[in-house]
Amino acid sequence: MSPNLINFIYLVAGVLFILGIKGLTKPKTAVRGNMLSALGMLMAVAVTLLTINDVDYRYIVAGVVVGSLVGSIMALRIQMTSMPQMVALLNGFGGGASLTIALAEYFSTLGAAPTSMADMLVPVAVDSSAFGVGAEGTFALIAIGLTVMIGALTLTGSFIAFAKLQELMKKSYGLPGGPIGNAILVLGALAAVVFLVLNPGNMAAMLTIVGLALLLGLFLVMPIGGADMPVVIALLNSYSGIAAALAGFILGNTVLIIAGSLVGTSGLILTQIMCVAMNRSLANVLFGKMAAGGETIDADEVYAGKVKSAQPDEVALMLEVAQRVVIVPGYGMAMAQAQHAVRELADAMEVRGVEVEYGIHPVAGRMPGHMNVLLAEAEVPYDKLVEMDRINPTFEDTDVVIIIGANDVTNPMARESEGSPIYGMPILNVDKAKNVVVIKRSLSPGFAGLPNPLFAMDHTLMVYGDGKKAVVEMTTALNQAD
Ligand code: NDP
Repeated sequence: MSPNLINFIYLVAGVLFILGIKGLTKPKTAVRGNMLSALGMLMAVAVTLLTINDVDYRYIVAGVVVGSLVGSIMALRIQMTSMPQMVALLNGFGGGASLTIALAEYFSTLGAAPTSMADMLVPVAVDSSAFGVGAEGTFALIAIGLTVMIGALTLTGSFIAFAKLQELMKKSYGLPGGPIGNAILVLGALAAVVFLVLNPGNMAAMLTIVGLALLLGLFLVMPIGGADMPVVIALLNSYSGIAAALAGFILGNTVLIIAGSLVGTSGLILTQIMCVAMNRSLANVLFGKMAAGGETIDADEVYAGKVKSAQPDEVALMLEVAQRVVIVPGYGMAMAQAQHAVRELADAMEVRGVEVEYGIHPVAGRMPGHMNVLLAEAEVPYDKLVEMDRINPTFEDTDVVIIIGANDVTNPMARESEGSPIYGMPILNVDKAKNVVVIKRSLSPGFAGLPNPLFAMDHTLMVYGDGKKAVVEMTTALNQAD
């Protein structure tokens, strides 16, 4: 294949990635965007395989078969609520892939793969131009060192993020000195990269980079609480992209540089968006107070004697006379798989002439866009999903807000209690509506572990029960009201 044709196909693949990401910005075009990106990746992989020499295709086919099988089974079986864990794992594998590419390139250029730890301690005499002449060689070694460092920390950091979200690791562990301990690990790993560039044959330097970066991944993520894990995952996603882009430089593969850069930058932008949605700086997420989470306010003090409850048929009576209703979904809607029932309730209200909209908080649920995906699955029209900034001014003119399985994203403490761990996080101002109905099973807290004063307000009614069951009963009662 001529180099021009290869580069042209890589360019087309790069354009498909960009169109794919553009498509993912809107629910309507998201599926097409995903398909375009997948097509771009297929073209890139196929062309790369056709252009490499001395390859034993049996290994490639075995890898593709095993990888596709494991990936497909995981993707088909994963619950929507466990998607962040899956993304964390995939990020980790991405980092691991870049790490192994860099190690393979290093040892094959050196011409000496170590067979024991003792081998690693004996520097190999290498030709000064083995990694490239002059600046080219220096650049190649810097790329190898940094890919190993970022790939290794992404690998262990992502596995810890997975363990935290899967609730396999409930405690938070950190290095003595916290951020200072981590800074020492970063500086140590960077010093080892510099040493490797100056002494390419020193495998012990490479071993040091790998070891310190694996530890860094562990100690960066272990002290951070589960509530901040989505931001960490977005950041690790960005790291895996940066590692892939660097691996692209090592291999001289344009399309890997493009794909890695796109993942690196889009991960960073997502991290920024999520920090803004929680009103936190990245430094505060990584090293801040909320890291450990925890209940700072006594729930009894907030709720005692003030909470009122209602049955679904009593709520139906309110809905019968309402003119405007806003539905606010949260993690509990996903848990109850109530999205179809919610759509049916909205249909029943609309038949009666009620104006119905959905208020979507950017971090409702357990992953960015979680609510949009579920409601799209239930074929709720996209124009009814209204973002936080646009729905907030409308609550004062809303007769009833139905909150289904949302908690933190409606907690007025974020607006009012300066000492609260979620203070400053923008919320849906549901308490400004004329009536508030909250469907959940109990007064248990949400992800942030905090009581919610909204549940004790005068105009709030709690409907206790599973989200789907309660909504179905409301719809039945409303339909029978004629
Ligand atoms: P929350 O986690 O605050 O609350 C969910 C509520 O759902 C719980 O209080 C629970 O109460 C209720 N619930 C659980 N199961 C059911 C059920 N079957 N039927 C009815 N209710 C149920 O959810 P929010 O969506 O309000 O907030 C999201 C939180 O998650 C935020 O703190 C956010 O920072 C964090 N986060 C966000 C991510 C994202 O990217 N979107 C990712 C990870 C975390 P009960 O047990 O009483 O039923």
